[in-house]
Amino acid sequence: MGSLSGKRAWITGASSGIGAATARVLSQNGAAVVLSSRREDRLRALSQELTPAVIKPVDVANRTAMERLGEELEAMGGVDILVANAGLMPLSPILEGRVDEWERMIDVNVKGLLYSINAVYPGMARRKRGHIVNVGSVAGRFANKNGAVYSGTKFAVRAISDGLRKEALAYGVRVTDIEPGAVATELADSIKHEPTRKLATGPGGVYGPGLEILEAEDIANAIYYAVSQPERVNVSELLIRPRTQER
Ligand code: NDP
Repeated sequence: MGSLSGKRAWITGASSGIGAATARVLSQNGAAVVLSSRREDRLRALSQELTPAVIKPVDVANRTAMERLGEELEAMGGVDILVANAGLMPLSPILEGRVDEWERMIDVNVKGLLYSINAVYPGMARRKRGHIVNVGSVAGRFANKNGAVYSGTKFAVRAISDGLRKEALAYGVRVTDIEPGAVATELADSIKHEPTRKLATGPGGVYGPGLEILEAEDIANAIYYAVSQPERVNVSELLIRPRTQER
């Protein structure tokens, strides 16, 4: 019996990185997990490690599919914990005008997060319990060059989390914004602008060689901390940097 036994946790972006690590930690602590992302093979492999686990492959930016999934989750008995984690980070200078990438970031990091919330929040509010964990970023506090749009999406996650927390407390629903610094995941692979990718992943870059950055488990443990507190506690924000990261 773990401290989350009897709870159902839905994790988006569960096929890799922070999402997969969070699914493992929440499952190890007793939660029944629902795993979502687009890569079904990865979700299936992870689900075979975890009991009980079901997979619900989806593109979080697909509004209709997310509405349908929300109904399915409700029919399963509803979700107690949402970890809205799916995201991408195709950094580049604004001057490059990579409008498709800007739109995709807004679609996934902001609209996808809102669709995820919308899929579960009404049920949580009706049952007068639930916990919504949004994965923001240290980039939701500070913007850097080449990261203006990504930061814009993560500032939005912070604003949505803060506003939602104030609204949701009347319904017994808790809201947490998790703000990681650099974590060793596949996220930097989403940087397609070559000079920016080199800056980020080359010598001296935040994902560059020789720097000890965070592991996905470090963030999963922070999420577990937030969701395992007594009902009277709302961990509103957690900003977690590698010791080596200045900004
Ligand atoms: P990964 O690239 O390892 O994981 C991203 C996850 O999001 C994958 O599971 C991917 O799955 C999923 N995803 C991407 N697009 C979609 C989509 N349209 N629909 C459904 N799922 C999608 O990176 P991280 O684990 O690092 O990223 C997780 C979150 O953490 C992101 O929101 C990121 O912004 C945030 N973050 C990460 C930091 C870091 O340094 N790594 C720092 C601060 C915040 P699939 O491709 O199968 O759909």
